[in-house]
Formats: sequence, C-alpha cells, structure tokens
Amino acid sequence: MSTTTFASLPLHSALARALAARGYETAMPVQSAVLEPRYVGRDLIISSQTGSGKTIAFGTLLAQTLLVEGTPFVRGPRPVALVIVPTRELAAQVREELGWLLRQTGLRLASFTGGTSVGGDLRALAHGVDLVIGTPGRLVDLSRRERLDLSVVTTVVLDEADEMLDLGFREDLETLLQAAPAERRTILLSATLPSEIRALARKFQRDALPVDPRATEGGAAASANSAAHADIAYVAHVVAGHERLAAVVNVLRAFDLQAADEARAIVFGTTRDGVAQLHAALVARGFAATVISGDRAQAERDRALEQMRQGQTRVLVATNVAARGLHLPDVDLIVHADLPLNAESLAHRSGRTGRAGRKGTAVLIVGAHERRKAERLLAAINARTTWSAAPSAEFIAAAARSRMIEALLKDEEPADETVPSAAVEAVIQKLEAQRPARQVLARLLARELGRLPAGEPLTVVAASSGGARDARPGPRHSRSDFSSKGVVFRINLGAKDKADPRWMLPLICRRGGVTHREVGAIRIGPRDTMFEIAGEAAHDFSVASAQMDPRAPHVRIDRADGPAATFAPADGPRPSPAPARPAARSFKPAPHKAAGHHKPAPHHKPAPHKPAPHHKPAPHHKPAPHHKPKPKQK
Ligand code: AMP
Repeated sequence: MSTTTFASLPLHSALARALAARGYETAMPVQSAVLEPRYVGRDLIISSQTGSGKTIAFGTLLAQTLLVEGTPFVRGPRPVALVIVPTRELAAQVREELGWLLRQTGLRLASFTGGTSVGGDLRALAHGVDLVIGTPGRLVDLSRRERLDLSVVTTVVLDEADEMLDLGFREDLETLLQAAPAERRTILLSATLPSEIRALARKFQRDALPVDPRATEGGAAASANSAAHADIAYVAHVVAGHERLAAVVNVLRAFDLQAADEARAIVFGTTRDGVAQLHAALVARGFAATVISGDRAQAERDRALEQMRQGQTRVLVATNVAARGLHLPDVDLIVHADLPLNAESLAHRSGRTGRAGRKGTAVLIVGAHERRKAERLLAAINARTTWSAAPSAEFIAAAARSRMIEALLKDEEPADETVPSAAVEAVIQKLEAQRPARQVLARLLARELGRLPAGEPLTVVAASSGGARDARPGPRHSRSDFSSKGVVFRINLGAKDKADPRWMLPLICRRGGVTHREVGAIRIGPRDTMFEIAGEAAHDFSVASAQMDPRAPHVRIDRADGPAATFAPADGPRPSPAPARPAARSFKPAPHKAAGHHKPAPHHKPAPHKPAPHHKPAPHHKPAPHHKPKPKQK
C-alpha cells in the first residue's frame, strides 16, 4: 500500500487544509497516482473501484484545472466544470465529499438529479453554479431547456462510466459531451474497462492516458479488469443445490448481523423471483431485510436505501441489475446467493464491501456442480479465496451461546435497561427465598437458550475443489473431513482488527498445533472470530492454544461455548506465562462446567499432534515447522 502523505503531494493549499482538517493524512493509491506530473492537464481513464477514494482523486484534478494557487477563483455566470454520475445516491455522496473538499476554494457546487422538482435546479442555476454534479437524464433536461449552459466547461468528469453505460445513459452522455467545448479536459473513471467504455473514451477524449493505481503501486498481476479488491476476504461455500437458501441464512446468522451494531449485508441473486423468495424467507426468520429488484420504482429503492442507512434494515436483497449504482456506506458482508454471470459482475457486486480501508467479506454460495465456474470467476479477478463448508446449525448455536455468555459477563449494565433495578431486586428476593439461585438460573437460561437464533440444517458437502487443477489453492477444509463432530472455538480478533481468513488460518494452526485440514468453518464477526476444529483434534488444540504466544501475547483463544476467558484483557497487563491459565476447564467434553472451576487440567503439555490417517495433508498443506505445537513457555 502507498504511504504517500497528502503533505507531499502537489495540492492546492485550500484542498490541503480541508484534508488536514478532516484528519486525512495518507493518500489512497488512486489519489497519489492521479497527481503524478505526467498526468497534469491530460485526459485520463482511471480504473477505480467504489470506495477507493476516487472522489477526492477527481476533486483534486478539478482543482488542478480550475484553480491557480494564490489567485482567488473568479466566479462567472456559467458552470466551468461538470461531474456526471449514474445515480442520485452517488450524486448526493459526491456533492457531500466535494463540498467539504472544495469549501475554501470559492467554487459554488450544486447537484441536479432526477426524481426531484426541477424548480430548485432552475433557481440554483439562476443564482450561479460553478461546478455541476448530476445524473445524465436531468442534466440533459436542463440543457435542453437552455438553463444549463455547458459552453465554457473546462473539465468534465464521468464517474462510474461503466455503470452509466449499463444503465442505458450512452445517448445522454453523448449529448452532454457534445454540448461542452471540444478542448475541455475529460476525466473518465470506471471500475471495469469493457469495449464500450474504450469506444466512448476514443470518441470523447483526446489521447487519454490510463491510470491504474494498482499497477502504479506495483500490484503484481493486477490489471484494470482483473484485480480483486484488496480489502475483501473471499470465502466460497459449496452447498447442495437445494440448500442455497439455507446456506444464505446460516451465513447471515454466523455473521451475526443482528448483534453487531453497525453490520450490514447485501445478498445478490440473479432472478427477481429468486430474490423475492429469498427476501421472504429472511423476513420469516426474523431478519430486518429489504429487497430491491428491477420492478421497483425509484421511490421504493430510495426508501430501501434509507432504511439501510438508518440501520432499520441490516440486509438488502438485490438483483444484480437493480443493484447497479447503489452506494451504501459500510457494507460489511456481500453474499452471492447465486454465482454472478461473469467476473466483472463478481468484482462489481463484491466491490460494495471492503470500502475505504474497511475489511469486507464476500461469500459465494456455490452449488456442488458449479465449483469449476466459481473457481474460474475467482481466478479471473485474482481473488484469493478460502473454500470452506457453510456454517452449520451447530456452529451457529455455539456462536450464539458464546455471545450470550459474553454479554452476561460484561462489566457494565446494559444501556437499554427498561426494567427498574428495584423491580429486578424484588423478584430476586422472592426467588431466592424459595429456590437455590442455580436452579433459577438454569431455568432462565434454558428459556433464553431456546430463543437464540437457530441455523438451518445443512447437508455436508466437501468444500475442497479441483485439487491440482486449482491454480490458487486456498485452505481446503470441510466438515466432511471431520470424523467426529467439530468443536467451535473463539479467537479475540474480528473485523475491527482487519481479521482475514488468509492470515487467521496460519495463526490458528500455529497456535493450536493443527493443520489446515483440521480447521473447519471460520466466521469473522465484528469483534471476534469463531472457528471449528475437527473433533479428534479439539482436545490437543485447546491445550496448545491456551499457551501464550510471545509473538502475539494479546491473542486469546477459547472454546466458544466455554466460560469467558480468564486471560488478561487485550490491553491489560501481560499475563504470566502459560501454563498459568486454567483454561483447560472449558475444554472438557460436555457437559461443560460452570465458571469458577478453575482447576487446572491434569495435563498442560500439548501432546504432539498426530493427524488422523484420513487427514493426511495434501502436498501443499504440509504443515510448516511452525505448525508444530509450541513447547511450553519458560
Ligand atoms: P470514494 O471511493 O470516493 O467513494 O471514497 C470512499 C470513502 O473513503 C469516503 O468516505 C472518503 O471520505 C473516504 N476517503 C477517501 N480518501 C481517504 C483518505 N485518504 N483517508 C481516509 N479516508 C478517505
């Protein structure tokens, strides 16, 4: 990644101040790339994904063309710059982002989009606008009414050009570009560069230079069409064809959308009917879900998006077509309920997560007969993928129990306490007088546990795919490899720590002395991660993982349905070296003992791990020396 600071870039001082005031110090790759000297004044074709920081990038280019350092901008009666975007949502975002970035430049900004009264646009234009942001249809409308005069425009930005063409705006774009002076500067941004985009560039740009920030960064095999978003962890689950819906439900449950404060997901499907069914099934299971498909009116689409922004809905179910041009902030999870039709669509759909440096997860639900196709799609976008079994019902139940225990053991009182503590106290006193506390607790818990969200039963389908055929072997593990039931563990690293199965898996293996084959589903949550260990390896794993790793002393692993860790808090004092941790208590097979039994297990020494014969790792899974159980710390 680039570590270029904005201070080192040739920026207009008004923008430098705005960025500093916003707390943005380090430029994102596209932002440093576009300011390279060879691009000054040139038409550009910028390969950029949503969330890459592209708005600030073209904002700096607008400033480069429109402003002179040390000379105040002179306002005129007609706009000097035009930014064309595919959707109203994006127009609002761009208006917002350019608003603060260009605030101190003297430029007057306005955004004109369909679906709003044209009167406001006309008033704004009469008042004077220097930089116009808008959607193609409304801009053409204003231009035809001769209220938007593009005759002195010096810079045109076509943002998300591929989406504009997909949405059928070619003619409108041509109309607008023809209305602007031929000697203008034209900046085109696009996530993909299909032939139609290249044709548009040839027709309306002059000797445009390509800017691919990933290539500039030295990003290996990355190319405009092929680079997967670096902040997205790709996970593929192979499922029996008829269990697609159940798998989606489990993926969403395992991600714990309901518990995480801000987590949001988009589920993509191919057909309207499929998407409608999926939506109905999710709502029936208590998910706050909403749906967008091609037959919905713009107003409904806006409402759905607004609900998502406000947090009233956590899951948006969408067809590929309807989702074109959606701009949702902070989507943490993308589920491809059906395989996308092509690699571009996979990149587009997945690009709705992993934005602005946040870690996102894209999960592909792959039918048993679709593995090859999924592999091809993932290889085409260069995505390193973790193939694993879909989270099982047991996995989800264990994770839910673990979260419940964590919530009950939290030090602070729940913020949304509605029952006065005096009332609670009165009930406690009555119960205490008549029954032992443990008995009451057991009853309460039985009731609560019964209410925890349940996963769907799933048939086990081997997740591993084409063996030697697979050019990018991810960790291949499947619950089908486990000869006895898997045991769920928790590690105290989650999305907030940019957890990614790619580095979590080696860490889990190293810490617990197991091989990839013995690790099942890995589910990253906002604050921690659940993972499954093959039943026969679970005991050794629990003992070995209880040892403190001097390379990662704050990393804590517990059995998920065991009591909360007794280890020092992550930012607390360093615990004394293992084997002081009496964690083995939670590793005994069920029934599991209540907290407070801190008796150390009879054996602390990790038994050298022997993979069961059928776990013999494939050559590329050969455990590296560091996968061996670590000797006890001194
Ligand atoms: P965009 O790709 O333009 O939609 O930007 C995505 C988000 O990243 C926006 O909220 C930006 O404000 C934010 N962003 C852009 N550049 C930076 C930066 N250099 N540092 C931190 N955040 C940024």
